Amino acid sequence: MNTQTAAATTLASHKVEQLSFERILQGLSTAVIAIDATGLVIYANATAEASFEGWIIGLDLKDLLPGFTLLNVVQSGPTSMVLSSKSNESYEVTLAPLGDGHFVVDLRSSSKQLEAPIQTELDDLTGLAKRNMLMSHLTAAVSRGSDAASFAVHCIDLDRFKTVNDTLGHSIGDLLLKKVADRLNSACRKGDVVARLGGDEFVVLQHDVQDVAAAEKLAARIVDLVGRTYVLNGHTINIGASVGVAISEESSQPRDLLRNADLALYEAKRFGRGRYRSFESSMGALLQERRDMEVDLRRALALKQFELSYQPFLDLNDDTVIGFEALLRWNHPLKGNVPPLQFIPLAEENGLIVKIGEWVLRKACLEAATWPGEMVVAVNVSPLQFKADNLLETITSALARSGLPAHRLEVEITEGALLDDTDNVLITLTALRELGVKISMDDFGTGYSSLAYLQKFPFNKIKIDRSFVAGDNADSEAILKAVANLGISLGMSITAEGVETAEQLKRIRDERCTHVQGYFTGRPMRPEVIPAFLNQTLLATL
Ligand code: C2E
Ligand code: CA
Ligand code: CA
Repeated sequence: MNTQTAAATTLASHKVEQLSFERILQGLSTAVIAIDATGLVIYANATAEASFEGWIIGLDLKDLLPGFTLLNVVQSGPTSMVLSSKSNESYEVTLAPLGDGHFVVDLRSSSKQLEAPIQTELDDLTGLAKRNMLMSHLTAAVSRGSDAASFAVHCIDLDRFKTVNDTLGHSIGDLLLKKVADRLNSACRKGDVVARLGGDEFVVLQHDVQDVAAAEKLAARIVDLVGRTYVLNGHTINIGASVGVAISEESSQPRDLLRNADLALYEAKRFGRGRYRSFESSMGALLQERRDMEVDLRRALALKQFELSYQPFLDLNDDTVIGFEALLRWNHPLKGNVPPLQFIPLAEENGLIVKIGEWVLRKACLEAATWPGEMVVAVNVSPLQFKADNLLETITSALARSGLPAHRLEVEITEGALLDDTDNVLITLTALRELGVKISMDDFGTGYSSLAYLQKFPFNKIKIDRSFVAGDNADSEAILKAVANLGISLGMSITAEGVETAEQLKRIRDERCTHVQGYFTGRPMRPEVIPAFLNQTLLATL
């Protein structure tokens, strides 16, 4: 080997080390996905995420590509199939087994969109770069490495854009996005990349950034410019921009930078609108935990990590068990049993609660259908499920499939469901009642204008929050008494929740509560022990 080739070889291997495989995969214009033996996506490069417009890790590939199947796949070599995505994009899908049950999947758009040259990857509406193009620039900037000056990624989110879109219509919304694009372009220098990732989400890649101050200067300029008044078709419009900034470091990867900028954006928004924040590593830890949990939560349904526990409630007339409340349990493979209060708020924030809630309804009806006699099942329904407008359909089909009669299902709602869009919620509630489903107002007393809600809808049952049962001060005593009296006069049943002692049980009896639910009369239990539990309580009452 002559010295020249030797030098070239050393240089080449050095380059390969610098370019980790992750970076190479991320830079590819072909969509590359890895799936596990059940078809769940465990890795996706940026092109793959762009093809499906978002986060796909944890999702089932057959949900993304209906018709996809692992059946008939030859384990020894690659297999190809042509499939259409939900948006009717046609792909040639090639699967190559990795030998350990996993597969690498590459997707080539049959309509050649994925491999289109970079220049055409512009957003039709604004003429800004789209995700693919941004990722290519970002990957290029990262691979220029530490000898080049650093760069910054700005994630930008418009405040109140949705309101404008909803109230003034899409054509004004589109005009506004174009104006925002113009202002972003004018805030940046030549060579910076301004991209729109969809909706009102923008990203700026700022080159030649000497220090944090230089990046924050641009962020401040963006907040200022985008936040100035717009006049469109005679409408005066005020929106704002929130910006999260991340500056490249030695070993930054495109995805890390975007994520860090996004975390900073999240922080910026937490402190009010029209602000910018730079990423700090301390922000990462907590939020990262949330994100990890979110990723895990997305896969939890598919991986069958949810279960229901059932807590009995008793009729105080004759002290018999008349039903059970279904309580969701998440068996996380590493964290163990995650309590619902830790993941339900998150599932509500990202909308997953709709799918999860659907599962809960189906499962609870199926299990309850095996219970004896007129035993009732109570299911918690999140306010978001009411907004998803397929709730009635979900419940009807859960009842039909399980064969559970409607009068054996109780739906528990909190005041949150009635806070906004009350009219539509009331329509759904009325339809449910007409089906024969019972409706309970849950956690009564913890919300806002509780009494007003009771007049708006004839609930079958009010569940008094356990804080009023546990609290031994004069106020909680008075509230307990007042609610019980109110319920009686409105003809509603009253369940006292969280009764833990004989003394509390006596007290709620004295206040004429009609039902009880709490550790004292029965803890949440696995469905398989319900028959034995019922036999035993039946014996006790004989
Ligand atoms: P919740 O609807 O008020 O459910 C009652 C909660 O109180 C349950 O907690 C139950 O285990 C607990 N509890 C019952 N008796 C006692 C007692 O005597 N003492 C004490 N200290 N606690 C008692 P869990 O299972 O942790 O559920 C917490 C909350 O999570 C529920 O409050 C409900 O708001 C929500 N949740 C649970 N399952 C679901 C679900 O399937 N969908 C929705 N949307 N929310 C759910
Ligand atoms: Ca409840
Ligand atoms: Ca409750």
